[in-house]
Amino acid sequence: MNYQPKIITGTVKGTGWPIDGHTLHFSQWDYDNYESWHLYGWDDADDEAVMQTIFITETEAGLCNYNTLEDFAKDWKAKKWEPQAAFCLELDKVEVVEVVQQEVKNDTRDKLRAHGINLTPRKYSDKGGILCLPLDKNLNGDVQAKHPDWVPIECPNCGRKCWKMSEADKLKEAQGVTFLCTECAVKAGFLNSYQKNQRKPGGNRAQRRQAKREKR
Ligand SMILES: [Zn+2]
Repeated sequence: MNYQPKIITGTVKGTGWPIDGHTLHFSQWDYDNYESWHLYGWDDADDEAVMQTIFITETEAGLCNYNTLEDFAKDWKAKKWEPQAAFCLELDKVEVVEVVQQEVKNDTRDKLRAHGINLTPRKYSDKGGILCLPLDKNLNGDVQAKHPDWVPIECPNCGRKCWKMSEADKLKEAQGVTFLCTECAVKAGFLNSYQKNQRKPGGNRAQRRQAKREKR
């Protein structure tokens, strides 16, 4: 069975970047001693803030291959951008909202399509797509005390109790999103993902450069 990291949704705070206040998906791994949150994915509503943040941080780190946000955004939106480094945050920069998956040794990936729900990963500015709703069992039990505007509903895929936030209906009306609990969304891979970026043929950027050099 494959190793699986802990996966959470958490609200970012105190970074000074556009992702502050956004609730994103993070993973935590044994190999770095549980000392940071790795960006794992995000909902489309957060895509713009994540894009701007990655541009800023790559530029500050001297790793960015683009001179302007405009050029960066063009490739980002065309899904051509490649991560130059893992994006991690310190533990105190993420306020955990929901523990979606505890660290496990078992591979529990589900096949959502077998349930007859035909969903594809959402692209920038697409209509439709997924909105992740926190599962009741992953929360602390005092949901309505903390979030008086949340309403309990059943996940349309697995039927388990999850919570709908007030923006959800607006998104459904404006963009035609489909509701799904976070576990169904994560297991089915229906998130914009930092790690699942398609590998280009011929390896990563450095490997392709090396191959070019060797040809000369
Ligand atoms: Zn579900």
